[in-house]
Amino acid sequence: MKNNLTSVLIIYTGGTIGMAENKTTGILEPFNFHHLLDNVPELRQLGFSISTIQFEPPIDSSEVEPDSWIKIVHIIADNYNLFDGFVVLHGTDTMAYTASALSFMLENLGKPVILTGSQLPIGMLRTDGKENLITAIEIAAAKENGQPLVPEVCIFFENHLMRGNRTTKISAENFSAFRSTNYPSLAHAGVHIRYYDNVIYRHASHKPLRPHYLMDSNVVILKLFPGISELTVRSILNIPGLKGVVLETFGSGNAPTKEWFLGLMKEAVNKGIVIVNVTQCRGGGVQMKRYGTGNKLLEAGVVSGYDSTTEAAVTKLMFLFGHKLSTQEVKDNMNCSLIGEITIPEEER
Ligand code: ASP
Repeated sequence: MKNNLTSVLIIYTGGTIGMAENKTTGILEPFNFHHLLDNVPELRQLGFSISTIQFEPPIDSSEVEPDSWIKIVHIIADNYNLFDGFVVLHGTDTMAYTASALSFMLENLGKPVILTGSQLPIGMLRTDGKENLITAIEIAAAKENGQPLVPEVCIFFENHLMRGNRTTKISAENFSAFRSTNYPSLAHAGVHIRYYDNVIYRHASHKPLRPHYLMDSNVVILKLFPGISELTVRSILNIPGLKGVVLETFGSGNAPTKEWFLGLMKEAVNKGIVIVNVTQCRGGGVQMKRYGTGNKLLEAGVVSGYDSTTEAAVTKLMFLFGHKLSTQEVKDNMNCSLIGEITIPEEER
């Protein structure tokens, strides 16, 4: 809590980092967070004032829902003035979705919110959890001239600090489980932690934190594949109450030009559904004017997701629709970067 020491609040939501093996079944299950502190006595050596809050019960991140994000936003907003930085311990499986959602929900964020977790439980000998946790705390506490070095929602994993809404989980096996392909790392932890100041997001003005608690889940991710049927696409686009679609297309934003496909896209757009084109590729972005196939989507009223991750696009739609914006307002917001989640090429601005 507030004293002269730098203070960090750890919010433990669940995930492997805080799991232990059930002696009877051999299954990994979340355990009480106090056990985590017992397992990392090094935390006491950091010289920071560290407080903890845990989800009751802690959850595997595959159970995460928008309500979980709202809970995290509440905890951060309620404690915002008491701490210098925040570390969110989270399962890796949906960490990129949570980081993306938080980046939109914590408007005007001026303090670090660092998400981390691990591939092996912190109590295990070869765990990656200790390293991730200790460095995440250091980053959350880091300041220069009294100002936080990284006032963003980030993911720290295996030596790399990445912008949360640019990150995707890419491995269920490797310690290096996350990538930010379309945006450079914000910091690298080697012998020293090197911060890359020129790529870290800073608000031009210091407005007070504006937490948001409204998300609308009437969205869907539609991943194309060769052979996808008309019935599949039609059924998805006709889900009652559907407001937004993240359309995962091929390469630089290409999709079939069959009449039925483009017809269904147009029909959905005319009903007011916002369809956002993102690429299935891990790197690069959508350029709908590059090929005839992509251009046809543009003509059908599909909007570009540029170089967005699927995680950022879907949570951004949830956020925008949650705030009851009109179809046109949602499209306009998808066409600009709210918090560094996309880069719009010069020629398309
Ligand atoms: N299933 C776990 C989770 O996402 C995996 C992990 O933490 O790495 O909660």
